Amino acid sequence: MSLRPLTDETLLVRLETLVHQERESVAEIVEHLAEVDRRDIVLDRGYATLFEYCTKRLRYSEAAAFLRIRAARAAKQFPRVLDDLKSGAIHLDAIMRLYPHLDARNCDRLLAQAAGASKREVLALVSSLGGAGGAPERDVIRRLPVLPPATSPSARDAQPPPGIALPSAGAAFPPAGAALPPVAMARRQDPDGSVGTQTVLAPSRIRLSFTADDGFLAMVERLRRLRRHKYPAGRLEDLLKDAVASILARIDPERLKQDRRRGRGAAKPRSRAPSRRVPAAVKAEVWKRDGGRCAYVAPDGRRCEGRDFLEFDHAIPWAIGGKSDNAANIRLLCRPHNQMLARRRFGPRRIAAP
Ligand SMILES: [Zn+2]
Repeated sequence: MSLRPLTDETLLVRLETLVHQERESVAEIVEHLAEVDRRDIVLDRGYATLFEYCTKRLRYSEAAAFLRIRAARAAKQFPRVLDDLKSGAIHLDAIMRLYPHLDARNCDRLLAQAAGASKREVLALVSSLGGAGGAPERDVIRRLPVLPPATSPSARDAQPPPGIALPSAGAAFPPAGAALPPVAMARRQDPDGSVGTQTVLAPSRIRLSFTADDGFLAMVERLRRLRRHKYPAGRLEDLLKDAVASILARIDPERLKQDRRRGRGAAKPRSRAPSRRVPAAVKAEVWKRDGGRCAYVAPDGRRCEGRDFLEFDHAIPWAIGGKSDNAANIRLLCRPHNQMLARRRFGPRRIAAP
């Protein structure tokens, strides 16, 4: 039906009604996705992830799927998200940006602050949470305070005890060539100026943040994908540590020396006994046969397209006599499907929930 004959007034009323309905639909879709996410349904239907289901089956664009899944996960933890979506107080983009910073204590406050906010305002809010001091272009390396275990309960969640010098939030990375203040901040500075010996930051964690271009992001994503098997969680720390270590192994003379020394150590002899371990030749054969892709087939015949998190699975479990050295008993499964089948085979208690 043509909209041309409508009066201006009717046209706007109808448009606004549709937008209202759209908001309600989006909130309901997010609510449904959250419930789907709680179950094994999409795995059973042959999708490795909810994202794959959203893009392949629901035909969302990758960005649209990402926004809705983020919102669904936020809604699972913070039900208020659904009400705010429905009322139009907050949009999917804001939830996507806020979600990593939400916790039980700040949720109400942050969602209220983000209500009606533009993208720019939400970005400013998020930036204020990161403690980057509003200087997103600068690299920031910040040592996170770790209090000693014997701290009194009242101090546990509070500020460090007086007299302990901690770097200010958002302390910027010193200019190139300058040394980081390494353990000075880990030592107790008594009021009289003497430095005590108590180490405060023993299991130190450091927050690094920096901005990068799309090319860098693409390389990181590529690395994440290629290293999924070794680092299933895909944590940047693991990936970048690996990358930095491999560069150092190549160019750092100290490191080369250490490696050579280690290389002279006794190598473990390989066991010839029957093993759960799948021999390399069998792995190669199975990989080729399964096309480097998860071999799970759903009841309706859909085969999973998962190419990440692939694992070599024993069709007949090794524990009950399934062979490791026979390709017929080995198949490629993505981790979500491997875990789903294990839950069915052994019950949920044997496998940690993903
Ligand atoms: Zn799969």
